[in-house]
Amino acid sequence: MDRLAIVVPCYNEEEVLKIASEALRGVIKDLSDKGKVSEDSFILFVNDGSKDRTWELIEEEHKAYPSLVKGVKLAGNVGHQFALTAGLITAKDMCDVSVSIDADLQDDIAVIEEMIDKFHEGKDIVYGVRKKRTTDSFFKRFTAQSFYKFMNAMGVKSVYNHADFRLMSKRALENFSEYKETNLFLRGIVPLIGYETDCVYYDRKERVAGESKYPLKKMLALAFNGISSFSVKPITMITGLGCLIVLFSIVAAIYALVSYFVGNVEPGWTSLILSIWFLGGVQLLCIGLIGQYIGKMYIEVKRRPRYNIEKILSD
Ligand code: UDP
Ligand code: MG
Repeated sequence: MDRLAIVVPCYNEEEVLKIASEALRGVIKDLSDKGKVSEDSFILFVNDGSKDRTWELIEEEHKAYPSLVKGVKLAGNVGHQFALTAGLITAKDMCDVSVSIDADLQDDIAVIEEMIDKFHEGKDIVYGVRKKRTTDSFFKRFTAQSFYKFMNAMGVKSVYNHADFRLMSKRALENFSEYKETNLFLRGIVPLIGYETDCVYYDRKERVAGESKYPLKKMLALAFNGISSFSVKPITMITGLGCLIVLFSIVAAIYALVSYFVGNVEPGWTSLILSIWFLGGVQLLCIGLIGQYIGKMYIEVKRRPRYNIEKILSD
């Protein structure tokens, strides 16, 4: 029987912790009663340097349900992505399959069973995908939607309308732990792992209690981090712009020369305008070119696994 770990990052979640714990304990009980996961499955709360009573509450839960509720205390606040990573890496050696979910229970815990079913069908990664965003404010919906579109345009492959509610098998976690990069954007990395994947769909609810720990500022930072840690496309765009401007300066040269010979220009204008455009273009092109090398170094420095071998057939 497979041991399930439900990994929950928590930052200042004292209002929801008990509710979340109770709900998730229910999920585990239900699944183990049905024989879908083992009885020693557990919840792993990761306290991301909360300033409120979150950790005390996790300790209380652990005391009350020692085998069912476990906790990891991070020494300080490192942000959702790192907190979740810490949880997943810790869970890797203790479980056969993991499900990550936010503490606020906005994601539908009822589909965890569906995820486990897909896992038993042989899927290694199952993404939780939001059907629609009716409960989010227009602003949140709009910014989030633009976020995915922009990321895709920038060449970061990620599953549309999927946040960090997902199932990962032990071997997926093992490969994931090979990604040692510091600029971590989970939603971009997980699709790189490979294996058979699937999606389950659900309606995203309101937060059970408390308020969002992801204000616009953090979301913009996440978007920028996502793009800058996955794609050197911005650099390629600079190179492209440089080429365009050089081309444009040739057109401008023709125009300036014609104007010069027609004779209705101030002395000095022609040479000045040509130098500005041409030099500007060349400079941008050169910056882009240098950028391409820096981009390559950036990719090298990450030392990402280059492939993930699933099976080898030999004697
Ligand atoms: N979170 C975290 N560290 C942070 C910010 C958030 O661990 O610095 C956790 C938070 O406790 C929650 C999850 O990340 O479990 C998602 O945060 P939130 O629900 O506030 O984001 P939203 O759903 O509004 O995007
Ligand atoms: Mg939330």
